[in-house]
Amino acid sequence: MQYIIIGGSAAAISAVESIRSLDRESPIDLFSDEETPLFSRVLLPYYVAEELSKPLLNFRTSDFFEENRVTAHMGVKVTGLNPKTKIIKASDGKQYSFDKLLLATGGKAIIPPIPGVDKEGISTLKTMADAERIYNMKGSRAVVIGAGSIGVEACISLTRRGIKATLLEQLGQVMPTVFDAEAAAIVQQRIEDLGIEVFTGEKAVKFTGDKRVTGVVTDSRELPCDMVVLSVGVRPQIELAVQAGLTIGELKGIRVDETMMTSAPDIYAAGDVAETHDIARNAYFLNAIWPCAFEQGHFAGLNMAGRKTVYPGSYRRNSIGNFIGIPAISMGVTHAESCAMVSDEDEFREIRVRTKDSYKKLVLKNGKIIGAILVGQTQKSGLMSILLRKQVYVADSIPLLMSDRLSFMDLLPILRRNADQFSEPEYKELMDTGL
Ligand SMILES: Cc1cc2nc3c(=O)[nH]c(=O)nc-3n(C[C@H](O)[C@H](O)[C@H](O)COP(=O)(O)OP(=O)(O)OC[C@H]3O[C@@H](n4cnc5c(N)ncnc54)[C@H](O)[C@@H]3O)c2cc1C
Repeated sequence: MQYIIIGGSAAAISAVESIRSLDRESPIDLFSDEETPLFSRVLLPYYVAEELSKPLLNFRTSDFFEENRVTAHMGVKVTGLNPKTKIIKASDGKQYSFDKLLLATGGKAIIPPIPGVDKEGISTLKTMADAERIYNMKGSRAVVIGAGSIGVEACISLTRRGIKATLLEQLGQVMPTVFDAEAAAIVQQRIEDLGIEVFTGEKAVKFTGDKRVTGVVTDSRELPCDMVVLSVGVRPQIELAVQAGLTIGELKGIRVDETMMTSAPDIYAAGDVAETHDIARNAYFLNAIWPCAFEQGHFAGLNMAGRKTVYPGSYRRNSIGNFIGIPAISMGVTHAESCAMVSDEDEFREIRVRTKDSYKKLVLKNGKIIGAILVGQTQKSGLMSILLRKQVYVADSIPLLMSDRLSFMDLLPILRRNADQFSEPEYKELMDTGL
């Protein structure tokens, strides 16, 4: 059996570990067009902030490939994939054949078509090369365009490094896909308290400067700056999948079945590139976060190595607490109206509680949690997450769930009543850890 893995990040490494848990012998060849192996992308903002050095970004030790007998082709891009002959072409000029292949090609940062976007001093923050570019940029003023999670983290990282940063967002609030307006207002206040200027509902229309960027012109003002970080989203890297004729979903990710296999036999996909079942939305979705990539890589690896294992699906979860100084977590669907699958029979509810220093919101569909926002007090986010993941009926326990004093003991009756929704090890772990 010859395995080929394209990509070298969360989904890819997790798949290697799963394959090796079942198959110690067969050759694995891994290709990554990034030069640096085994770094965690999640930690790049800390590198930009000069808080973590490069070796500390690694999420596996440097002997990982040797230990797992993986031939790693770092800095090599896979340029062609033929699902019929089961051969790939790579940028080293060679061809490689496979029995099982994983596409773990992740996402690509979107470059908005703003005039002047190719000037020096403008960068996305996606790859290690991007992080190094931003790290090495000189100057004292930055503009970050896009206030999603990565934009907010980038902006705060630059501030921590002593750079005066401005955050620009064309929608009406920060972190629009993560928080509702009320939570976003709290988060924005915290960002501003750090000395960052935030402009929402304002669009960048032009970059000024000759060779190097010297400013951002918006539809309301001009912001002088020495550097710009673009953070307007990522899109799945599906070029190889398109070329190979694999089925692409409505959200432009690679469609996979419950074993993470694509529409072509023996070709699997996992991570940011894959469109998978979303538990909260009950639909295919792209959940471009590290834990989902890791889980999906795990299930893909087991199935590639011959153990049929059904992927239960994922849901989005984001936390920004480490950056803004107060805990702030969001999971699943944050607005009932954003559910694409609304049907006449479905009943949606949003419940909110705001206190002086906290905000809590639950989104329920037919009495089950499909989304939650917790700001200020997040101690019980693990429990909320379990209730969402397992789609436990909670409509009769709302006052309890919204209470500040919610404890594991309070939830025991609900969990016991729904014990059949947990596998035996899951239920035991829950009872043992009291999450
Ligand atoms: C700055 C930043 C901060 C983040 N913070 C968080 C966070 O706090 N929490 C969280 O959950 N998630 C976070 N994320 C998202 C998280 O990093 C991703 O969800 C995760 O890395 C996805 O893993 P992946 O394996 O699917 O793909 P990726 O990490 O995108 O890796 C795919 C790899 O495949 C390579 N590749 C693509 N095409 C080819 C090809 N043809 N040939 C060879 N190699 C190829 C790419 O260059 C890349 O190295 C963050 C992302 C960024 C950029």
